[in-house]
Amino acid sequence: MFNKILIANRGEIALRVLRACKELGIETVAVHSTADANAMHVRLADESVCIGPPAARDSYLNMPEILAACEITGADAVHPGYGFLSENARFAEILSAHNIAFIGPSAEHIRIMGDKIEAKATARRLGIPVVPGSDGAVTNDEDAHRIGAEIGYPVLVKAAAGGGGRGMRVARSEEEMSSALSAARSEAKNAFGDDSVYIEKYLGKPRHIEIQILGDGKGNAIHIGERDCSLQRRHQKVWEEALSPALNQEQRDRIGSICANAMAELKYSGVGTIEFLYENGEFYFIEMNTRLQVEHPVTEMITGIDLVNEQIKVASGATLTIQQSDVTFNGHAIECRINAENPSTFAPSPGRITYYHPPGGLGVRVDSGVYQGYMIPPNYDSLIGKLIVHGRTRVECLMRLRRCLDEFVVDGIQTTIPLFRGLIENQDIANGLYDIHWLEKYLATNPELPD
Ligand code: ADP
Repeated sequence: MFNKILIANRGEIALRVLRACKELGIETVAVHSTADANAMHVRLADESVCIGPPAARDSYLNMPEILAACEITGADAVHPGYGFLSENARFAEILSAHNIAFIGPSAEHIRIMGDKIEAKATARRLGIPVVPGSDGAVTNDEDAHRIGAEIGYPVLVKAAAGGGGRGMRVARSEEEMSSALSAARSEAKNAFGDDSVYIEKYLGKPRHIEIQILGDGKGNAIHIGERDCSLQRRHQKVWEEALSPALNQEQRDRIGSICANAMAELKYSGVGTIEFLYENGEFYFIEMNTRLQVEHPVTEMITGIDLVNEQIKVASGATLTIQQSDVTFNGHAIECRINAENPSTFAPSPGRITYYHPPGGLGVRVDSGVYQGYMIPPNYDSLIGKLIVHGRTRVECLMRLRRCLDEFVVDGIQTTIPLFRGLIENQDIANGLYDIHWLEKYLATNPELPD
C-alpha cells in the first residue's frame, strides 16, 4: 500500500480523496495555487505545497510543479480527482517514469477512451452497444452526406476529442449537414486543437444512463449499477440519481454485465464510467470516462462501497476483493450539484460566504470544501459542493431532499439551491419522467424559483 498520496486537485473532490486516504491510514499532500492557500483541502492535509499562480494552466495543470511537489514530499502516488490531469495519459506516463503511481487506469486505456472515435470502435469490439453512425472520422462533405442518408436525419456531428458538450452540432436535414460539419470542426479545433469529427444518429428523447465499473487490471471487473444523469443544462449534469427510475432489474443486470465483461476483457484497472443514451429500451454507448465521476457518491450511498478506497487499493496492485454477487442496491439516492451561480442565469457568483449552514441528519451527505468566511475564487469551476440524500425508497429520498434544501443556507453569494427547490415541487421530477432535454425546456418557461 502507498505511504503518501499527493492529491492533484482542489475543492470538494480533493477533500473527498483526502478522507479516503485518512481512513486507509495513508499520509496526504495537498497542492494548491496561490488563490487556494486557505482552502479546506490545504488545511486538512498532512502537508501542502504551493504549485503556482491562480490560473489552472500554471498550477493544477502544471506537471513539472506537481512532479516537483512529489519529489519534495516523497509522495509515492498521485490521485488526480476529476477534471484537470485526471484523463491525461502523458501525465500518467511521466509519473510512472518517476516511479510514482498514478491512481487511475493505464495510460493506454486513458488514451483509447480519450479519443471518442477509438473509444467507440473499442466499445463495439468489446460487445457494448453503440449509437449508429460513421465508422471513423468524417473529413469531407461527400462522406458526411452519404452517412447522413444511411443512418437518417437528424444526426449529430461530434468532436473526436470532445468534452464538456463542446464541438457538437445537430444537422436536422441534408441541407444543414455542411454547415453543421464546418461549425463542429472549427469549434473542436478551437477547444481541443483537433478538428476530427464523427457522425452519430441524433436521439430525440433519450435518458443519460451510465454504468459504474471497477476493475483490478488483472482481468477481474464488476459493475456497481447505474446512475441516471438525464437532468442536464448545456450538456452539463445538474442532478443525478441511483438507481435510474427508468430501468428494471433485468435491464440493469443485462447492461451491467455487458460492461463488466468488457472491462474484464480489456483488463481495465480502477474506477470508470461507461456512458449511454437510453431510448425505447435500448442502450447506446456515447463515451467512457476513465476516472472518478463528480456524481460517484450516489452509487456509494446505495451500495456502501467506498469507490475512492477501492480505487486506491487496486492502484496499489491489490486484487479486487468485491465480487459481483457482493454488490447489492439499497434504497435510492439523489445528488444536487451546488454551484456558485445565479440560479436563473447561471452566471458565476464567486465571493465570500458570509454564513454557511449545511443540512444534516439521517441519510444526508454534503461533500463540499467551503466554510463560513471562505472566499470562493473566480478562477475555477463553479461547483462548490454536492448535496447527496439517501432514502429507502425514491419517495422517501425526495421528501428528505426537500427537507435538506429547506435547511441549506449559503449567504453572501448566489447558488443553484433555489433551482433545486423549484425542481423538487415539479410533478415530472416526482414521477421520474424526464429525458436529457427536460431541464432546458423547464428553464425556458422561466419558472419562479423559491428563495
Ligand atoms: P461530452 O464528452 O462533451 O460530454 P458526450 O458524448 O458525453 O460529450 O455527450 C454529452 C451529451 O450530449 C449527452 O449526455 C447527451 O445529452 C448529448 N448527446 C451526445 N450524443 C448524442 C446523440 N447521439 N443523440 C442525442 N444527444 C446526444
